[in-house]
Amino acid sequence: MTTRIPVPLTQFVVKMHSRCDLACDHCYVYEHADSSWRSRPKVIGDEILAKAAERIGEHAAAHRLSAVRVVLHGGEPLLAGPDRLRRAAEALRAVLPPGCALDLRIHTNGVLLSRAFLSLFAELDVKVGVSLDGDRASNDRHRRFADGRSSHPQVLRAVALLNEPEYRHLFAGLLCTIDIENDPVAVYRALAELRPPAVDFLLPHATWDEPPKRLPDGGDTPYADWLLTVHRMWEADRRPFAVRTFESVHRTRRGLSSLTESLGLEPSDLAVLETDGTFEQADSLKTAYDGAPATGMNVFEHSLDDLALHPGIAARQSGLAGLSADCRACPVVRSCGGGLYAHRYRADTGFDNPSVYCGDLMTLINGISGGGSSPSGSSSVPAQGGEPLLSAVLTAAQLDELARGYGGADTVAALGRSQLALTRAMLAAAWDASGQGRAEAWGLLSSLDEAAPGAVDAVLAHPYARVWAARRLGGDLTVGLGELAALAAAAAVRAGRGDAVAVPVRGGWLHLPTLGRIAVPDGEAVVTGLADGFSARASDGSVFTSYDQPLRRVRLAGGWTVALEDVDPLRDSHDHPVAGRLPDGELLGWTGALREAWELLGRDLPRYAEGIRAGLTTVTPLRPGPQGRDVSSAARQAYGAVGIARPATAPTLALLLAHEFQHVKLGAVLDLFDLYDRADDRLYFAPWRPDPRPLEGLLQGTYAHLAVTEYWGTRTAAYDGLPGEAADRARAQFALWRRYTAEAVERLAESGALTALGRRFADGMRESVSPWLAVSLPATAERDAERARRERGQLRLAGA
Ligand code: SF4
Repeated sequence: MTTRIPVPLTQFVVKMHSRCDLACDHCYVYEHADSSWRSRPKVIGDEILAKAAERIGEHAAAHRLSAVRVVLHGGEPLLAGPDRLRRAAEALRAVLPPGCALDLRIHTNGVLLSRAFLSLFAELDVKVGVSLDGDRASNDRHRRFADGRSSHPQVLRAVALLNEPEYRHLFAGLLCTIDIENDPVAVYRALAELRPPAVDFLLPHATWDEPPKRLPDGGDTPYADWLLTVHRMWEADRRPFAVRTFESVHRTRRGLSSLTESLGLEPSDLAVLETDGTFEQADSLKTAYDGAPATGMNVFEHSLDDLALHPGIAARQSGLAGLSADCRACPVVRSCGGGLYAHRYRADTGFDNPSVYCGDLMTLINGISGGGSSPSGSSSVPAQGGEPLLSAVLTAAQLDELARGYGGADTVAALGRSQLALTRAMLAAAWDASGQGRAEAWGLLSSLDEAAPGAVDAVLAHPYARVWAARRLGGDLTVGLGELAALAAAAAVRAGRGDAVAVPVRGGWLHLPTLGRIAVPDGEAVVTGLADGFSARASDGSVFTSYDQPLRRVRLAGGWTVALEDVDPLRDSHDHPVAGRLPDGELLGWTGALREAWELLGRDLPRYAEGIRAGLTTVTPLRPGPQGRDVSSAARQAYGAVGIARPATAPTLALLLAHEFQHVKLGAVLDLFDLYDRADDRLYFAPWRPDPRPLEGLLQGTYAHLAVTEYWGTRTAAYDGLPGEAADRARAQFALWRRYTAEAVERLAESGALTALGRRFADGMRESVSPWLAVSLPATAERDAERARRERGQLRLAGA
């Protein structure tokens, strides 16, 4: 029996003031079922703020969080006044442990926002989000003062201030609540004109008892139609700002995590602190019934771990199992996740229902993903803005972007789609080559592909699904057809439609890829995917319904997750031995290190970080190297996974993640294009290795070291002439790796083995390297780099 570790809370809404200077008639605080605001103090007390900061600090330290987000909210938080806002920000900054970043935001209606407030926020690094429903007519529909006056001019003035160069970095984005009577074209254009960095489009809060507005001739799915109109304009404009709803659909259709609580199956990690010091669940629950968000806990008597274990919060952390039967059987459930929890409420059945927006969500998700990652695994992407397509997958500009070492979210997503299509093709070929054994499992996968394509995609996007096919096709018959049955079983469990399939059990474990493993007697287990989980009937008749070792995921800042894969038997496809099941202490160590490393990647390799987030799904722990040597590896057939032995420090982990993910990206590029003559069997020395390697090895190493060099270049720039050991080390590493990488690019270019596209790729790498060579470094750094090069050269001669 293991002790339950609470899922850490990383997002906190702190109610600074419980009243508002507007009287918006769609507001969930004052206009919906919950009336708790009436009995609360208007403004939060300093004692409560101090205690809340202390709680957040202790929670961050206990869970080794690398970042927490706190949103100062209301009512209208600016009514709390500058002094109290300053005290709140300072209290929060004072208590967080070293290494834990504070993402501090304020969410305002903008009416009171002034230069004085913005100067304060600039000093305290508080980002500002503003509510605005679109053009004046749209905004005036709800967002008015109590006397009926429009608030639109004041909000535009607030946004204009935020767009001034001095304050632009504080602008977090706009929040727009949809009204289907508003013209989506006018709303989109009005918001886009304000150049926001992000827009959140919010469905108005509603339940089955208080359903959303419908128009007599508005069709069956007016909210989806409204949003799809906005989506088309957003795509046509080449996505000028972030929209979490749209991006989350694109991500979840590829098996990645959602970026918003209102979609997907990610566990909720949000808590609310009211002005009287009570903890509540998500604010949106105020729409369900009076008292719905209450937890009975308060900041003085309860820790955040207590709160994280509260049944109401736990219910929003239970993924598929926490959804209604209809949702569990739904083909888009992994993207939709049953919608926002509050929108499922009905007085007689509680939250055990699909969303009241069910039809809209289904239409929206299918509409957004229709042109991209189709359920059948189509790898085509439309050309953007007339840009030439280099293949059915990438534009020429995207390949050039990859060649320079980078690759943003869209580009890496395109690689992911092409890899999924390849996995499907390889799986089919491997099954054919096997004499079509385990036909029952193959038949189930095929029928689920029609009925629940999201479930099949999620399983086949797992990095080690393709490893099975590659090994079989490579003639390795030590991997049996049982793995195919396990893939079908995992898809059946994800679909939850009652489908059953037999899976062989060896070594006492039944493994369901992407889900976990169950201790089951050897033989054959029949796995049935049920609406509320699964059952596995062993050959001796015993029945199992829960995982002994579930696959665990680490949630990272920004709302995405990565799996820590320590149960899949095919994870042994990396060059180094893999670690066994992580004990709890080691799991916590990995969790903290990954969170910190992700923070560092955002800081030191921002041009790589977005691609990593779009494509990295799995970290496979490896066994430590000899004498504590850092060990990491990407497996050519396992797209999306990197293998790493947990290093001593987070910066090293960040560097290893970036290095290995370069191999992942380049592997996917090489699956699409011939960059070199594959008949070339010469061996080449990479400047950093004593042993010669085939051309692909040199190409892979050069590509990985583009990221390594940029990392040290960024660190060098950050130290900007400062003295110290760390600064000297960064300069010496930068001096060394820029030389090595430049030399390797020229070696590739001169090999005579590159195709025309390969030469173009090498030109791209050179484009990134050349500016680094122009950076002036101290003579000592250059001398150290030269000495290291000479020593490496001598090693090579000795080896030769
Ligand atoms: S579309 Fe409807 S049935 Fe499907 S997951 Fe969403 S709310 Fe549930």
